[in-house]
Amino acid sequence: MNLSDVKAQIQASSAIAVVEQTFEKIEKNKEFNAYLSVCKERALEQAKASDERRKSGKSLSVLDGVPIAVKDNMCIEGTKTTCASKILENFVSPYTATAVAKLEAAGAVVIGKTNMDEFAMGSSNETSYFGKVINPVAKDRIPGGSSGGSAVAVAAETVALALGSDTGGSIRQPAACTGTVGIKPTYGRVSRYGLVAYASSLDQIGAFSSNVEDLAPVLNFMCGQDPKDNTTSAEPVPDFGEQLGKGIKGKVIGMPKEYFAEGLDPKCKDVIEAALAKLEKEGAVIKEVSLPSIRYAIESYYIIAPAEASSNLSRFDGIRYTHRSKEAKNLADTFSMSRGEGFGSEVKLRILLGNYVLSSGFYDAYYVQAQKVRRIITEDFYKAFEVCDVIASPATPGLPQLAGVSESDHLSLVLSDLYTASVNLAGLPGLVQSCGKLDGIPVGLQWIGKPFDEASLLGIGDAFEKLP
Ligand code: GLN
Repeated sequence: MNLSDVKAQIQASSAIAVVEQTFEKIEKNKEFNAYLSVCKERALEQAKASDERRKSGKSLSVLDGVPIAVKDNMCIEGTKTTCASKILENFVSPYTATAVAKLEAAGAVVIGKTNMDEFAMGSSNETSYFGKVINPVAKDRIPGGSSGGSAVAVAAETVALALGSDTGGSIRQPAACTGTVGIKPTYGRVSRYGLVAYASSLDQIGAFSSNVEDLAPVLNFMCGQDPKDNTTSAEPVPDFGEQLGKGIKGKVIGMPKEYFAEGLDPKCKDVIEAALAKLEKEGAVIKEVSLPSIRYAIESYYIIAPAEASSNLSRFDGIRYTHRSKEAKNLADTFSMSRGEGFGSEVKLRILLGNYVLSSGFYDAYYVQAQKVRRIITEDFYKAFEVCDVIASPATPGLPQLAGVSESDHLSLVLSDLYTASVNLAGLPGLVQSCGKLDGIPVGLQWIGKPFDEASLLGIGDAFEKLP
């Protein structure tokens, strides 16, 4: 289901009818556990207003009346924002995240909040306090995480568009695992105001859709500088659809040799290489590039992200808006017992790791070193971009892993961030789309772009999607 299908349905009936049908679809697809809550009253009210605008010829945009799903780590005034954690089980947001507010100002209707790995920590969507998300395209496999709920909301065709957040791959990996399209914009493109922070220097809001083209209007409305987030960039917001339909003749695609080497499932490698060969036939130029420091990306990411997380999560203390332990008898107990009861084990692991690498004695050896490595990785990417327009890469090391992997093989999940976390470390935009199937299971292809060049990613992704 894509955006034009939804637009046609609204035209033929009404936004209210489409919103009601969406709730029915969510109900029918409950087995996937993609949604944590729905915003019924709010959505119906907004749909009603949208219908009135349409009748008087004053529709706000192409998104007017279109239902969207939002990951449950983005605040929406008056609705629950749980981050799929017990500690925020009953937290109701007092304000709305800028990214969501901007889409609502364009007429989009938020239909519900989607399941995720707890506090966006994970790659399997198995760490949610509210149960794991099932992958509709391969039920025995993970849907990818941490924005698995949003990816599945699109893959199961409950909505055409969904928002996610990506700190080390949390939009792009679920897109790969579910055969949807996902984009993580450049760091600073989209305001993080109202996004519950995981690792502030890496987090970025992005979106899922069923085709590349549909991401353009979402980015057009969602991006831009925000006075409430001083890490947003003043870089002008282009029309992200400007390169759609322009083909790929003459585009230089960089293929990092380190990405197509050991660690990548050979069968997936074949599918990706066959996809790139098709583009070459259409006039793209494929060039080998090198990202020599990329082998340190996981180490650097898994020091920096937990360090920032341990600091960001210190605000959940049992005093303010979180779960409070009933057993606590004094202040110190309130802190430790509320956190002990409220956080799941993956989150606790990150907090311990983060505090460890930030503690005196280890700070220089781990944290400072990881920051230096981050700089070198970024420079590797910039160097590669001197000779190519975009970089092609796998999204994950292989097909989506079998469900249960977060317990059975935690390390392999960490390693699955290799191709995506490096992109966050460098602050670059990345788009993932499906480039073929193996035994009916989608294989993801990632396009990595120059800073603020999301338009090229959409252009090339669209060209690939439309290949004969
Ligand atoms: N898998 C990575 C982690 O757990 C990335 C998660 C994300 O992008 N939010 O940190």
